[in-house]
Amino acid sequence: METSDVIIIGAGFAGLTAARELSKGGHTTILLEARDRIAGRTHLDERLGRNLELGGTWVHWTQPYVWAEMGRYGIKAVPGPEFTKAYWTAGGHQHEGDAVSLLELLDAPNRRLLADSRRYFPMPWSPLDNPDVADIDGLTLSEAIDRLELPEDQRQLLRSFWTLNFNGRLDQAAYTQALRWCAVASGDWQLMFEACASFKIDGGTRRLAEAILADSAAQLRLNQHVASIEQDEAGVVVTTEGGKQYAARQLILALPLSVLNDLEIRPALSPRKREAAAKGQAGRGAKLWVKVQGRQERFVALGPEAGALNFVQAEYIDHDSTTLVCFGPDAGAVDVDDIDAAQRHLDSIVPGLKVLDVAGHDWVADEHARSTWPMHYTGYLTQYLAELQRPEGRIRLAGSDFANGWGGFIDGAIESGLDAAREVSGALALECQDTAAVSG
Ligand SMILES: Cc1cc2nc3c(=O)[nH]c(=O)nc-3n(C[C@H](O)[C@H](O)[C@H](O)COP(=O)(O)OP(=O)(O)OC[C@H]3O[C@@H](n4cnc5c(N)ncnc54)[C@H](O)[C@@H]3O)c2cc1C
Repeated sequence: METSDVIIIGAGFAGLTAARELSKGGHTTILLEARDRIAGRTHLDERLGRNLELGGTWVHWTQPYVWAEMGRYGIKAVPGPEFTKAYWTAGGHQHEGDAVSLLELLDAPNRRLLADSRRYFPMPWSPLDNPDVADIDGLTLSEAIDRLELPEDQRQLLRSFWTLNFNGRLDQAAYTQALRWCAVASGDWQLMFEACASFKIDGGTRRLAEAILADSAAQLRLNQHVASIEQDEAGVVVTTEGGKQYAARQLILALPLSVLNDLEIRPALSPRKREAAAKGQAGRGAKLWVKVQGRQERFVALGPEAGALNFVQAEYIDHDSTTLVCFGPDAGAVDVDDIDAAQRHLDSIVPGLKVLDVAGHDWVADEHARSTWPMHYTGYLTQYLAELQRPEGRIRLAGSDFANGWGGFIDGAIESGLDAAREVSGALALECQDTAAVSG
C-alpha cells in the first residue's frame, strides 16, 4: 500500500491547487484521478480543426484566484470576439439587430432583478454574513423574475438569459445564486456577464492546469477511480475500483458535488452532506461547438428558454467557415455528435446557417462529473454550504461546488483548493504537536 501525508482525490483545478500547496509545504501528497488526464471539467481538445474548450473556458480579472494563478505562471488572458449582430426571440417572434440593442434590452430587467445583490451579499466571499439571506434562499429564480411583472417580451428575454447562466432550468434554481454572481462582480450585471464569456486563458485551460501540476511535488496517479474510503483514529485508507490501496493521515475529496455519493465512505459523511449530494445542482445542460459554412458576421443569439440550444455565439470566424459555441439547459436534449439535430436546433434561433460538423462532451452523462458548472438549487446556500465545508475527521471536501466567491467557476475551484490545503496543513501540524507531546 502506498502511503503519504495527504491523499487528494480529483485532479481538477481544486485538487491540483491543493496538491501543489501541500507538496510545496513539505507534505508527501498523492493525487488520485479517475480519468486519463488532469483538469476535470475543463478540457482543451483538438476538435473541428482547432483547439476547443469543451468545458470551462472564460476567466476575468474580477476573479482573484484564477487571475493570480495566471500571473504566477506568466499566462495572459486573450480577448474573445466583439459582437456586432444579435438575434433574439421574444413575444413569439424572432428579432435581429445590433449586439448593443440586445444588451440594452436586457439591461433594465437585470438591474431590477439584481438590485439587492450587494445588500444581501455586502462581503461576497462571506456569503452567509447577512442573516436576511435565509429569508430569500427558498425563492426560485423563476419566481424572482416573474414577480418583477415585466412586459412579456422582457420577461422571456430575462428568463432565457438566466437559463443560459444556470445551464439549467429556472424552476428550482436559487435566486440567491444569481445575486451571488452579481455581488462578486461588485453588483454590476454587465461586468458579471463580461466575466462569464469574454476572456480566455492564452494557451487554454490545459496550459494553466499543467503549470500548476509542474509546480507541484505531488505524485499524480491517473486512471485511479476511487471506490471507497475508510477513516479511523490512525488515518484514511482509499481503495480504487481496481483494488489498489493508498493510506494517508489526511484526505481531500476534490470531487463534484453530484458524484460524492458514488463513493462508499466509512463512517458515512453526515446525512446533510449526503442529502446535498443526492440533490446535486442545477447546472445540467449542454455546451456544443458547431462549425457552419461560410464566413458569418460576429453574432450572438438568444433563443427561447426551453430551446434545446438557447444561446449561440460566433466564436471563430475563418475564411470559409465559422465555429459557433452554443449552450442549452438540458443535456438530454442535445446529442453532441448529431449534425442533423444541431441543424434543427440552430434553425429555430438563427436563420440561414448550414451545419458542417459538431463537437462537444456530455458532462451530465459523464460519471466523473454528472453536471456542468455548479449552479445551486434553492436552499443550498443556507442549508448545505457551511456543512459541506465542515471537515469530518480526516476528510475535507474541496471544489468549485463548495466555494464562497465565484462558485461555479475555475476561480472558485482554486479558492476552495487553497482553503482545503491550508486547513489540512494546520491539521497535520496539530497532529505532529500531539505526537511530540505524547512522546515527550
Ligand atoms: C461546459 C462547461 C462550461 C464551463 N464554463 C466555465 C467558464 O467559462 N469559466 C469558468 O470559470 N468555469 C466554467 N465552468 C466550470 C469550471 O470548469 C468548474 O467549476 C471547475 O473546473 C471545477 O473544478 P473542480 O476542481 O472543482 O472540479 P472538477 O474539475 O470536476 O474536478 C474533479 C475531478 O475529480 C475526478 N473524479 C471524479 N470522480 C472520481 C473518483 N471516483 N475517483 C477519482 N477521481 C474522480 C474527475 O475526473 C475530475 O478530474 C464550466 C464547466 C463546464 C462543464
